Amino acid sequence: MRLATVSINGERRVGLVDLDDRTIAPFDLTMDEAAKGVVALIGRETLPPLLSPIGLDRVRIEAPIPRPFRNIFCVGKNYYEHAEEFARSGFDSSAAAGAVPKFPIIFSKVPETVIPSAAAVRIDPKVSPAIDYEAELAVIIGKGGRGISHERAMEHVWGYTIVNDVTARDLQGRHSQWLIGKSQDTFCPMGPWAVTADEIDLGNTGIRCFVNDELRQNSNTRLLIFDIPTIIATLSEGLTLQPGDVIATGTPAGVGIGFDPPKYLKSGDVVRIEIDGIGVLENPFEAAA
Ligand code: MG
Repeated sequence: MRLATVSINGERRVGLVDLDDRTIAPFDLTMDEAAKGVVALIGRETLPPLLSPIGLDRVRIEAPIPRPFRNIFCVGKNYYEHAEEFARSGFDSSAAAGAVPKFPIIFSKVPETVIPSAAAVRIDPKVSPAIDYEAELAVIIGKGGRGISHERAMEHVWGYTIVNDVTARDLQGRHSQWLIGKSQDTFCPMGPWAVTADEIDLGNTGIRCFVNDELRQNSNTRLLIFDIPTIIATLSEGLTLQPGDVIATGTPAGVGIGFDPPKYLKSGDVVRIEIDGIGVLENPFEAAA
């Protein structure tokens, strides 16, 4: 199932997307329930009834989880070639420990960074001239838990979406914790919608990123260093994961700092991320007013 959070005449709705008909059928949810986005559907024995479908061209797409209830968990350096390019870049405060980490590197982005597909990412040149993109598969947790085993981890996955883990590289490098460089306003485009876990074969899912139609990242989720069960087992060892948690699983090689000289984003650029089985997340980058 492909599930979207949308705005219809200014009201937030959560619905089932039909790409053949280009429609969305909203679920019969209260306004308070719909305010949570697709999280409103997690943990239900049966889904709520569907209302009449509406053309996708008549709704505004919001992020599937417009405001996560807490920080988005993120994995750093989780594809081999990207781990090497980042360690070489000079911005990797963890490089002394080796390019490829022994254990998953976990950081987070604040919930207010989330914006939907098509919304502008704001570049503030007074804060950072070194803005970069990172195409990532994001996991949405369904069943919470602590001490989740590797073997049972996938039972806790409700679905997936796409995020662009936008990063201010100079801030990431200056502070050994990455939170500031990763949590600038608008730095987490998410969407365009979520898909349920059954829609994705983690062993073979293509992930691509284009900047102004130039292919920059082209990889596959089978190439993750730490797979999703390992990430869930690691995170939940002593930290209780909760329904609606979002985990961005890391980006492949081909980010802007992988080039010499680096290719940072500038106002007017458009970043398009495609993940097979999910869809296309596309955002313009614009100078902050
Ligand atoms: Mg990342």
